[in-house]
Amino acid sequence: MAFDDSDEDVGERARRWTDFDCPDCNANNPVDESFGHGDEIRCYYCGSGFHVKVSEGGKLRLQPE
Ligand SMILES: [Zn+2]
Repeated sequence: MAFDDSDEDVGERARRWTDFDCPDCNANNPVDESFGHGDEIRCYYCGSGFHVKVSEGGKLRLQPE
């Protein structure tokens, strides 16, 4: 049976956030709608966009677009 890792998963990866610290300028960005694994977010201060990844341990990782 194939296991699709890219799909929305249960557990830690289902966690969602309502703010993030920009990796580029360190500004804290509160967001109106919560985001989670697979979403795209943008820093309101410097305009950098990031893909949201959540590691298996539930850690938030922001990858530059
Ligand atoms: Zn920024």
